[in-house]
Amino acid sequence: MKVVKTIPELKLALQDGRRGLVPTMGAFHEGHLSLMRAARAECTQVVVSLFVNPTQFGAPDDLERYPRDEERDARLASEAGVDVLFAPSADQMYPNAFGTWVDVEATGGEASTRPGHFRGVATVCLKLFNLVRPDVAFFGQKDAQQVGVLRRMVRDLDVPVDIRVLPTVRDADGLALSSRNALLSDGERRQALALPRALEAGRDAPDPVEAARAALNGLNPEYVELLRVGDATLLTAAARIGSTRLIDNVVVKGELA
Ligand code: AMP
Repeated sequence: MKVVKTIPELKLALQDGRRGLVPTMGAFHEGHLSLMRAARAECTQVVVSLFVNPTQFGAPDDLERYPRDEERDARLASEAGVDVLFAPSADQMYPNAFGTWVDVEATGGEASTRPGHFRGVATVCLKLFNLVRPDVAFFGQKDAQQVGVLRRMVRDLDVPVDIRVLPTVRDADGLALSSRNALLSDGERRQALALPRALEAGRDAPDPVEAARAALNGLNPEYVELLRVGDATLLTAAARIGSTRLIDNVVVKGELA
């Protein structure tokens, strides 16, 4: 596996053939690795980007607290069969006088509670799509609304990439894997379990939002909402546990294919 840190190095590392891109912010877990393995299974060249994208964070302390372990990430990516790990600096991605943004219309869920978040996500993903020119890019259902935003962007702006979505990988007790889980204390992690349990309780209920809210076990959610992403209806929720913000969702109807 080649580790490249600059755009010129990345360009030199790209090869002909079917190229897959897995955009990430690092601190790899099985969720990330499942995307890398899926890319490995269907592409001739697998590129993973590792970039903690400052423009998608609201509060600066959230960005600073975000877990980072690039050495471990490089080892895990290499073991998953990744060909190129692109780990640029913020200066590479946002040089001086950067001033162009992709603003995809979106409402509800993360769009309403994290203003500017999807602008940062869409902008960095379009840059990555232009730099890597992947045939297919792999994303997790864990961030289902992000998938909806990116599908809309590639359709509206005619970006020639397939957006593939893979199921949320969970710990044995149901908690969705997230880089942010590393920030939870043992007690907070136990509290966090109310999130997937509430979504499970809501999934088949006549009123999913009400049933999920009732099962939150004292957890104070930022939102519990039904959200349409493509043909699928998702029950989605966000909650802060201590100073860590977690999100999760389940499909209530349709398929997020
Ligand atoms: P992140 O590093 O958190 O930006 O995530 C990078 C990619 O991994 C995104 O497409 C996420 O949706 C995906 N991802 C994160 N957590 C999981 C998970 N538990 N299961 C599947 N995919 C995930």
